[in-house]
Amino acid sequence: MLNIDEIQNGIVIDHIKAGTAVGLMDLLGIKGNRSASVALIQNARSHKSPTGRKDIIKVEGDSSWLNLDVLAYLDPNITVTTIHDGKPVKKEKPQPPRRLVNIVRCRNPRCISSIEEECDQIFELSANGKYRCIYCEQELQVNRD
Ligand SMILES: [Zn+2]
Repeated sequence: MLNIDEIQNGIVIDHIKAGTAVGLMDLLGIKGNRSASVALIQNARSHKSPTGRKDIIKVEGDSSWLNLDVLAYLDPNITVTTIHDGKPVKKEKPQPPRRLVNIVRCRNPRCISSIEEECDQIFELSANGKYRCIYCEQELQVNRD
């Protein structure tokens, strides 16, 4: 784990709902990446958050492997700041991707994607802003707490 202020080049994922960053690291692919330098700050003070607390994840170095697509559908308040030479150069809110491919699994045990191991897990953004499994139409349940 890095010191909070150590990032020279990398990204800062900010305004994560307090208590959810650990689960988020799993979805981002951080958990499986053994070479990444990652700092997790839990329960940082936040004026914007209704609870007054937020989590922050910092990733030093190359962050192209991060699965940032998942951020927007998990929590629209999350921001991603790119740090270059110790200074923030870009701040953005990730846009929800139209499709989530092999990021989350369908919870329907009878769905073809649950039965066939070769089957890709694909969810598509529907008109109401929710993701649905393209095979069985099951709405994606996001565990936010
Ligand atoms: Zn399904």
